[in-house]
Amino acid sequence: MSDESKSQETQSVDHSRRSMIRKMAVVMASLPLVPLLGACTQKSGTGESGGGNAAAPAAPQTPAAAAAEKPVDPDTDTIAKSLGYVADANQVDTAKFPTRKGEAGAKQFCRTCSYYTAKDDKWGHCQVIQSGLVASGGWCNSWNLKGA
Ligand code: SF4
Repeated sequence: MSDESKSQETQSVDHSRRSMIRKMAVVMASLPLVPLLGACTQKSGTGESGGGNAAAPAAPQTPAAAAAEKPVDPDTDTIAKSLGYVADANQVDTAKFPTRKGEAGAKQFCRTCSYYTAKDDKWGHCQVIQSGLVASGGWCNSWNLKGA
C-alpha cells in the first residue's frame, strides 16, 4: 500500500469517527427532551391540549373518598348511630331525643344545621358524620342552627 492510499484511508477513518462523534453528541443533547415528548404524546392521546393552563390530573379516588360520596349507613357508622342520625327527620324517636320535639324541634333538619354543606337538593356533607352523605331532610342529636 502506498503512502498516499494510507493517508486517504486514515482521513476516511478520521472523517467517519468525527461523524460518529457528532451524531452521538446530537443524540446525547436530545435525551433530556425524551420524557417531555412522551408527556406531549400522552396528552394528545387523551384529547388534552397540553397547554400551560391544563388542570392537574385528578388524584386517584381512595375507597374512603368513594364511600364518602354515598349515603351514611347509620347501622355501621358508630358516630351516626350514637347521635341517632336518621335520613328522615320525621322518624326521630322523640322520646329518646326530646330536642326534636315540638314546634322548634320540627324545624330541625340537616339542611338547617350549621354542620351541613349541600351537595345537591337531597344530600350533603356533614362535619360531624363524615363517613358518607347525610340527607338534607335528615337529623341527628348534634343539630345546630345554621347562622346562629
Ligand atoms: S350534625 Fe347536623 S348535618 Fe350532621 S347529621 Fe347532625 S343534623 Fe345533620
